[in-house]
Amino acid sequence: MKLLPRKIETIIEPQAVIEGAGVRLKRSIATRELDYLDPFLLLDHFASDDPRDYEAGFPLHPHRGIETVTYVLKGEVRHRDTLGNSGSIGAGDVQWMSAGRGIMHEEMPQVRPEGIAGFQLWVNLPAKLKMTPPRYQDIRSGEIPEIKMRDGARIRVITGTVGEVKGPVTDIAAAPIYLDVLVPSHSSFQQPIKRGHTAFAYLFEGEARFHGDDKEKGTLISGPKLAVLGDGDYLKVTTGEIPVRFLLVSGKPLHEPIARYGPFVMNTQDEIKQTLYELRMGTFVTT
Ligand code: MN
Repeated sequence: MKLLPRKIETIIEPQAVIEGAGVRLKRSIATRELDYLDPFLLLDHFASDDPRDYEAGFPLHPHRGIETVTYVLKGEVRHRDTLGNSGSIGAGDVQWMSAGRGIMHEEMPQVRPEGIAGFQLWVNLPAKLKMTPPRYQDIRSGEIPEIKMRDGARIRVITGTVGEVKGPVTDIAAAPIYLDVLVPSHSSFQQPIKRGHTAFAYLFEGEARFHGDDKEKGTLISGPKLAVLGDGDYLKVTTGEIPVRFLLVSGKPLHEPIARYGPFVMNTQDEIKQTLYELRMGTFVTT
């Protein structure tokens, strides 16, 4: 069978939003243009050197039915939850949190001279895992393998497999790939992505061409942009004068109904009502 390249299906312009207690960020999933990219529910990009854009942070708030993936490029985010977990993630670190049946936590970017930069992705949980106990995978930068390819690309493998190298985040229902890819000027990058899985590239620095096949010129994109990829077996990207850096993310779609209310994502409105009832009654978090 001939391997099919993944062409760009849609290019999404990230939107400026204010979230939490007043954090300015760029959102490209969970917008009017792109509400849900099954199994991905939200993608936020935060980047600022001005403390007024981020110091208010995300004070105590609940989650249920989803996973939140925080990847910090620069600065520091402190977190604390009502189950007694707390810690801090810094440059290059990842926190993959499965909220399951529920957590209440705060996520507070720290004011530092270098500012803050990073991403938060929400991954949906299948119906059968929505009410499982919460789970954290905290991964320090040094535990994330960084590969240098012969053609110059440098890839940090957070989850999924690149060649023989496997990322440290494991046992996630969506069988995701999450890569941080840097392609220097006049280079190329190619990565297999399982057919039938949803995939996107989030370009946050520079520009690159995304190729539908080996012969055509491809589509040139400059960051910050979200490129939703059509189905196929692999992605091919090339650069000209300007290098590019992007997240490459894929995951197995759930094809289940969603009922979404802020930080809760369930399958039915009744489950959302039940969640709000538990919050009111003080029974939302059970230890
Ligand atoms: Mn949160």
